[in-house]
Amino acid sequence: MKLKVISTGSIGNAYILDNGNEALLIECGVNIMDIKKALNFDFSKVVGCLVTHEHNDHAKSINEVMKLGIDVYASGGTFAKTGHSIKSHKQNEIVSKQNFRIGNFKIMAFDVQHDAAEPLGFLIDHADCGKTLFLTDTNYCKYTFPGLNNIIIEANFSKEIIDRKFGADSGKEFLRNRILRSHFSLDNCKDMLKANDLTAVNNIVLIHLSDSNSNEKQFVKEVYDLTGKNVTAAVKGLHIDFHKTPF
Ligand SMILES: [Zn+2]
Ligand SMILES: [Zn+2]
Repeated sequence: MKLKVISTGSIGNAYILDNGNEALLIECGVNIMDIKKALNFDFSKVVGCLVTHEHNDHAKSINEVMKLGIDVYASGGTFAKTGHSIKSHKQNEIVSKQNFRIGNFKIMAFDVQHDAAEPLGFLIDHADCGKTLFLTDTNYCKYTFPGLNNIIIEANFSKEIIDRKFGADSGKEFLRNRILRSHFSLDNCKDMLKANDLTAVNNIVLIHLSDSNSNEKQFVKEVYDLTGKNVTAAVKGLHIDFHKTPF
């Protein structure tokens, strides 16, 4: 299985898990042409698209994806906020703690904390990549997940940078508070990793890094120092092997 990063961060998020036979799209917050190109215009192997929440950087092309004939899976709140009160048969409403299957991907959705209607994270299980966690746009995760093999996790900002830029006398405390309430800081990301058993983890991929409030090298180093795992900061066009076993 390969993880392919079409785009990451507030500019837009879209990722593909692809084993050559079947592909699962995760998020569609980019122009549809970017998704089409990443799939080499072959949509037949795409089994579905997961969407965490309605913000444009995650859900921008939700309509166009359904128009390509791809089933989209998101919460009722997410569909309502993206203007899908009229049901398309490509629209699959899911709720937290629901288990469902898309092709050979077994998925469990879970609730996260974000300034959106009904945001979700996903635990994705497939014979080729094992248990893969997808967690973004949250300031906290109340769940832990046993037996993870790969982790895709937000590391949005460094609290030090935020405090320096948006501190008490900056006049930008609103912005600071919004970021703190809605996104995973590097420290929260590290706490989340510490709370989970990482024994069987092969990859940790950091996503949704803020352009101005993060430091890619420092984030990768700190997470590597903490976990000793293969840590990668996602960038547009990254392809990385996601196996269940280390080799
Ligand atoms: Zn976002
Ligand atoms: Zn968001």
